[in-house]
Amino acid sequence: MAALPPCPRGHEAARIVRDGVQRRGGRERQRYRCTAVGGLYHRFIDALGRTRTLYLTCC
Ligand SMILES: [Zn+2]
Repeated sequence: MAALPPCPRGHEAARIVRDGVQRRGGRERQRYRCTAVGGLYHRFIDALGRTRTLYLTCC
């Protein structure tokens, strides 16, 4: 099992789940969904092979 990354927005109590893989420009990026307490959620992408995280949507 691969470890899930923490929420880049600091939602410590949130639940992180995989939300598919996005292909873009020949690269694959793992997409995650962060569901915070109360049902609010947002998605973020962890670029494979990189340490940089891109934000797609916000709460
Ligand atoms: Zn979050």
